[in-house]
Order: sequence, then C-alpha cells, then structure tokens
Amino acid sequence: MNQHKRIEILKRLQAAIPEPTTELQYASVFELLIAVILSAQATDKGVNKATAKLFPIANTPQAIYDLGVDGLKEYIKTIGLYNSKAENIIKTCRMLLDKHNGEVPEDRAALEALPGVGRKTANVVLNTAFGHPTIAVDTHIFRVCNRTKFAEGKNVLEVEKKLNKVVPDEFKIDVHHLLILHGRYTCIARKPRCGSCVISDLCEFPDKNID
Ligand code: SF4
Repeated sequence: MNQHKRIEILKRLQAAIPEPTTELQYASVFELLIAVILSAQATDKGVNKATAKLFPIANTPQAIYDLGVDGLKEYIKTIGLYNSKAENIIKTCRMLLDKHNGEVPEDRAALEALPGVGRKTANVVLNTAFGHPTIAVDTHIFRVCNRTKFAEGKNVLEVEKKLNKVVPDEFKIDVHHLLILHGRYTCIARKPRCGSCVISDLCEFPDKNID
C-alpha cells in the first residue's frame, strides 16, 4: 500500500471515529493498568462489569493487595484466566508499592517488569494514560493491518514495527484506537462489513464482503 492511501485511510477513520479512545472504564492510571491486565483474551464489556464492582471497593495498589488473591478472585471470576490474572495483579500491586511508591511508572521497562504486563499492555498504558505515541497491536489491529495491507507483518511485533515506520507522527497517538475500533465494529473477524466501510475503496483486501 502506498503512503498516500495510508494517510487517506487515517483521515477517514479519524472523521468516522471522532473520539478514538479505550472502551475500558477507568478513573486513574492504576485503574487503567488493572483493566488492561484483565482485558487479555476478554471483552472490554466483561472487564467493565467486573471493575464496576471492584473499583468502588479497591482502586489503589494497597487496597487491592489487601484483598489478597482469593478476595480479588471474587470480583473477577467472570473473566477468562481469572486465576492467573488475580495472582499477577496481587504481585503487581506489591511491586508498585515496593518499587514505585504505589504509582504506575511512566516507563516501558518498568511496566514490562510488572507481572501480567507484556509489551501490548505497556504500550496501551503509555499511550492511553501518558499520551506517548506508542502503538499497541492486538488481534483486531493485526487483522485490519494485514487484511487492508495498511501494515503487513507475520506477527504482532512485525506489524507494530511497520506501523511505527509508516504512520506519520500526527496520527501516532490515535492510530491504536482508530484501528482497534475499526476492527471491532466494521472490519470484524468473520464477515467484515465492507458495504458500510468508510475505507473500502482504499482497502486492498481481495475478498471484500459486499452484499
Ligand atoms: S473494506 Fe472490508 S476488509 Fe477492507 S477495511 Fe473495510 S471492512 Fe475491512
């Protein structure tokens, strides 16, 4: 795909999605971190339902740590992989208290050192909470980028590197949420909604679903 098309795609997505941000509910950087850890292989809706009960009771590293693994599980047991997520979150809270004064660090290496926090989670927190131009690639973005040929790659890291290369600086803050929301609601996995897609004339997917 040429750069002219890419920029046009970004402009159209920006016009179609005026508030490109996360659908996870959060009121602090710490709440966002916990919500993103919980969202791995789970829907934002499911996470929001659980955190709506958890956060009014505990929304600081100390308060969640004090719940303990079993206490935390009670709030998140509707979410996939909740056993390991509960363990990781308690360890993360301990580490935030011991090493970061109870604050979420604005630093990739420090974030990735937290249990349950991988590259994608660190990218989301740096981008969404701290306004860094980092581009997290999840399953939706991976699919959209390869399908459209906007930024092709064999794995999420390759797509992330390609996006960093081809996305102009002025779009870097928003591109993650623009592509994720486009993938979640229009360029969906099974039957992409090409008939109502605002970039269908620019997309290079050969098997468009136009009924
Ligand atoms: S035209 Fe279809 S395949 Fe291409 S981006 Fe739109 S929904 Fe996805």
